[in-house]
Amino acid sequence: MKLFIHRKDLRTGDLAAFDYLQEAGAPVMHLLILDPFLLQKGRDKEHSGVNFLRHVRRLRDLYEKEGRTLHIVYGAPDEVLDRLLNMLKGGELEIDEVVVHRDFTPYARDRDRKLTEAADKHGAAFTPLLDTLMIDPQTFAEFTGKDGYYKIFAPFHRKWLEYLAHAPNEPSSTVLSDLTEGQVDREWADEFRVPFDLNDYEPADEWTEKLEPFLQNGIEEYGDKRDYYPELPASGINPHVNAGAVSIRELYARATRLENSDEWVRQLAFREFYYYLAIYDEDYFSYEKKYDLSALTDEHFERWAKGETGIPAIDAAMRGLNESGLMPNRLRILCAMFLTKNLQCPFTLGEKYFRRKLLDYDNVQNRGNWLWCASLGANSAPYFRVVNPVTQSEKYDPNGEHIREWLPELTEEDVATVHQPRPDAIVDLKASRAAAIEVYKGIVNGS
Ligand SMILES: Cc1cc2nc3c(=O)[nH]c(=O)nc-3n(C[C@H](O)[C@H](O)[C@H](O)COP(=O)(O)OP(=O)(O)OC[C@H]3O[C@@H](n4cnc5c(N)ncnc54)[C@H](O)[C@@H]3O)c2cc1C
Repeated sequence: MKLFIHRKDLRTGDLAAFDYLQEAGAPVMHLLILDPFLLQKGRDKEHSGVNFLRHVRRLRDLYEKEGRTLHIVYGAPDEVLDRLLNMLKGGELEIDEVVVHRDFTPYARDRDRKLTEAADKHGAAFTPLLDTLMIDPQTFAEFTGKDGYYKIFAPFHRKWLEYLAHAPNEPSSTVLSDLTEGQVDREWADEFRVPFDLNDYEPADEWTEKLEPFLQNGIEEYGDKRDYYPELPASGINPHVNAGAVSIRELYARATRLENSDEWVRQLAFREFYYYLAIYDEDYFSYEKKYDLSALTDEHFERWAKGETGIPAIDAAMRGLNESGLMPNRLRILCAMFLTKNLQCPFTLGEKYFRRKLLDYDNVQNRGNWLWCASLGANSAPYFRVVNPVTQSEKYDPNGEHIREWLPELTEEDVATVHQPRPDAIVDLKASRAAAIEVYKGIVNGS
């Protein structure tokens, strides 16, 4: 029998692993391990954890509808695997291969090293397949013929498009019911019982409810309107993408069938670029050690996190995030630059905060974007780039709608003043900008 372990691929169709398992022909046991490490410190109650668990609930329901079993357990993945392989060893349902989709964070790599060891111990193969990306990074690297890797997005994007024209990656039609189920009694999982009730989580909404209206009405204007966040022209698909409820192949295929989808597809390439950097840039997850960040301070971090800085666009964005788990991309840039530059706070604090709060949190994407805003890393904004949250707010939220939505104290404020810093603002924008440029010049140049 084969074992498939779901991770960030919470769907029942168009999975690289299902194609592979159908080809193998053997019965399959389907498992999902809720990892205490990833849900610790109350994360199961925060937006990012809740989004994941709502998708787990949806996945369980999809399996049930098909009359199939998804074993859901709670425990350290290598311990769960060790126990399961041991229990089934020598029997009719002995597992000879464990199949997963690859992930690229340091935690995921270490987890998979331990899973490989557990599989080895019981003579089973461990097969990680690529599912999260449109490109296979290895063959892409050969295709580019490049010495080293792309550090800048534009040339990567050009080659990415060329590569996909040359090696299309179409969605697969294989679904759960195409696989034979290896029927294992559920009792084995008693020892790894989930310590909360999954029924307390509403099943996640269907991703098609977000995507279809966007493809019909929004995609053409995406390039021009994306940043005008009160109109919310972006798709809002990302919480589903990062839980793996929809494959990236499906998104790409549906978008490229339409005219004027280039700008949106470019964002899919951006997502891919950050994964690519996470694979090839050996400092990607450790830039905070490479730079000397000792000149920075956490003095104003709490005020930023609570949305109490006295800068309306920032406070509205942070309070909106805290309440809803949502924040449009433009506001993420403003908040991240404000924290790292005007408040001179290490990017890692903001990164960790977003980890808990964002509905669509993804370690690789979050880090890549925080590095960009903080002017650190291979692909980043120049150190002297410090956006002004007042002028940006005036431009992208001209009537102050977003501010009024989240800051009740400004509901009646005149449009001429609603964007302006409040009298108790924690920093002066002009002075803090100038100071930040000096400090970041030193950090980036190592002086
Ligand atoms: C400081 C900061 C932190 C961020 N943290 C995350 C994060 O944790 N997880 C995450 O997925 N994105 C993150 N982003 C990127 C971006 O803000 C979101 O992907 C975007 O807001 C999703 O909006 P949407 O669902 O409407 O997708 P759309 O705007 O419709 O875009 C479609 C797809 O393109 C991709 N995409 C869009 N913008 C970006 C981008 N800037 N970088 C990479 N991919 C992009 C996403 O996969 C998205 O599903 C962050 C950006 C910043 C500035």
